[in-house]
Amino acid sequence: GVAQNTYNTGIWSKMDIQERSHIMNNIAYTLKNHLNIFAFKESVQTGRPIKEMEAQMTRLPEWFEYYASLIRSKVDTCLPFKGDFVNYVKREPLGVVAQITPWNHPLLISIKKLAPAIAAGNSVVIKPSELAPCSILEFVKLCESSGLPKGVINVITGYGPTTGKYLCNDSRISKIDFTGGTDTGRIIGEMAGRNITGMISELGGKSPMIVFDDVDIADVVNGTVFGSFIASGQTCIAGSRLLIQKGIYDKFVDKFVEKVKNIKVGDPLDNNTQMGPVISEQQLNKIDQMVKNAKKEGAKVLCGGNIINNQLNGYYYEPTVLEVEPHMEIFQEEVFGPVVVVHKFTDEKNAIELANNSEYGLGASIWTNNIKIGHRIADNIDAGIIWINDHHKNDPCSPWGGFKNSGIGRENGIEAFHEYTQTKSIIVNYSSNTTDWFSNSNSNVRYS
Ligand code: NAD
Repeated sequence: GVAQNTYNTGIWSKMDIQERSHIMNNIAYTLKNHLNIFAFKESVQTGRPIKEMEAQMTRLPEWFEYYASLIRSKVDTCLPFKGDFVNYVKREPLGVVAQITPWNHPLLISIKKLAPAIAAGNSVVIKPSELAPCSILEFVKLCESSGLPKGVINVITGYGPTTGKYLCNDSRISKIDFTGGTDTGRIIGEMAGRNITGMISELGGKSPMIVFDDVDIADVVNGTVFGSFIASGQTCIAGSRLLIQKGIYDKFVDKFVEKVKNIKVGDPLDNNTQMGPVISEQQLNKIDQMVKNAKKEGAKVLCGGNIINNQLNGYYYEPTVLEVEPHMEIFQEEVFGPVVVVHKFTDEKNAIELANNSEYGLGASIWTNNIKIGHRIADNIDAGIIWINDHHKNDPCSPWGGFKNSGIGRENGIEAFHEYTQTKSIIVNYSSNTTDWFSNSNSNVRYS
């Protein structure tokens, strides 16, 4: 109700773009002055190390700055319509949109969705994860103190199958933007379908990291350990399948495992901690069960593989590396925890087959100094985000989303702005000829 009324008043949806852009920049500026508070909140509610959250928070204002600039410089089109017509196409907001977010990057994922949605003039109802709802509540207050009219962003907290379901079933919602698990995505997609509501979904992944023989092993071990274990592996694009070319396989795996064994696991609020706990007991048990299944299927444990029983308050799992075969569940299914599987490949063709052997297609990284190999492999991998010699890098301008069962639609960039607008095509007749189809004359009048 509040979101719809706010939208209908036009206080935001019809505000001059210059003014809207100015408020978006104000939000970015205010946020920059409160990063530490948000880093603390994110760390406490997710268990992710404070060091990680401080680094992540510094990037968040960029999303508001980017979309503030984008709306100032957007160009509507004028099309070559046949005849004496001018056809211009405008982009208008959708109305009230719903956003449903997960717990792993509570604020980052919310901001990725909020910035393009409000830049376009929509009102938003956002439902954060029941496991991490605190920072977004605080953030909306910050937006309002920076000039955003009340009622443009509305937060509702609660569980998915109750509050989330209620929101998704509301026929006043023009689009649902969802990030979470693939199974939840299917359920929400059904609800969206019934109401003819659009949907953007960012779902699960099983991203490969493909390492070629020619690399500097020490450098790439550093890069791939980061790719796998940041956020305790609880990211949708975690490099969870490590594919290594046969010439360096043994040496690379040794160094990789050595590095993983040295990851400092501990209290998230300790500045020296490199990896915290996982989010919940349920998630811990899921990880443990998947690793147990993998052992039964014949996976070889290279390090980790157990729950950590420390004195800390939280659900800790050892950073784990498993040598596996592609048919195993652990090669195919998302773990969403600190577990990476390794497998050897022979040549480019084999690397591509293994990388694409997945229902998912979110991210992939290719590690090589050979520019030709890098581009060739990138051309052949079925994934929406591909890094060459890096992993996880993200920027507001760069489209983010998946192929296959990893989702539909894109976050970031002009793509997300388009997701949050609809085109209106305006066709103007400026011909001096008038026509009367129903006249009785036989002149060759033609409408088309
Ligand atoms: P989840 O699917 O359990 O929950 C995500 C959100 O959906 C939560 O807010 C939850 O309350 C809500 N929800 C759950 N059931 C619902 C229902 N029936 N109706 C409406 N809403 C419902 O996911 P999670 O455990 O919070 O996050 C982990 C998953 O998210 C992983 O699979 C991960 O890959 C994915 N993820 C994807 C991306 C990406 O960009 N593609 C980013 C982060 C996380």
